[in-house]
Amino acid sequence: MTIELRHVEFMPKVLEPNVLYVSEKYRTAAHLCACGCGDKIRTPLGPTEWSFTTGRRGPSLWPSVGSWQRPCRSHYVIRNGEVHWANQWTDSEVRQGRLKEHAARKEYFAKRAPKSRVRRLWTWLKALFVIR
Ligand SMILES: [Zn+2]
Repeated sequence: MTIELRHVEFMPKVLEPNVLYVSEKYRTAAHLCACGCGDKIRTPLGPTEWSFTTGRRGPSLWPSVGSWQRPCRSHYVIRNGEVHWANQWTDSEVRQGRLKEHAARKEYFAKRAPKSRVRRLWTWLKALFVIR
């Protein structure tokens, strides 16, 4: 089974199986769960979300797709147009994965925050406490 890439502007209401729909304009991708359960999987694209690349053999989506909220609990990676099944996670692994994601996101935004703004805030705070 191979996953085919389809560029779209808007996500179609009905998705075809084995197609990864990508809207670069709205920075989102969607596909039907690879297990065949028919659930729509939406994956936002961005530096702290999923990243999508396309190669000669097909699209890749990273990190893995985990349908933890769905009955099938599928976990797989789409790489070079192929579905690679990954281990099922236990509930605690899911929680840990989420925490890690959250930490990575916080770090990313902390790095991007302009230092001058922090400094300005600090100066402002200091000014508040200075005894005049
Ligand atoms: Zn499924």
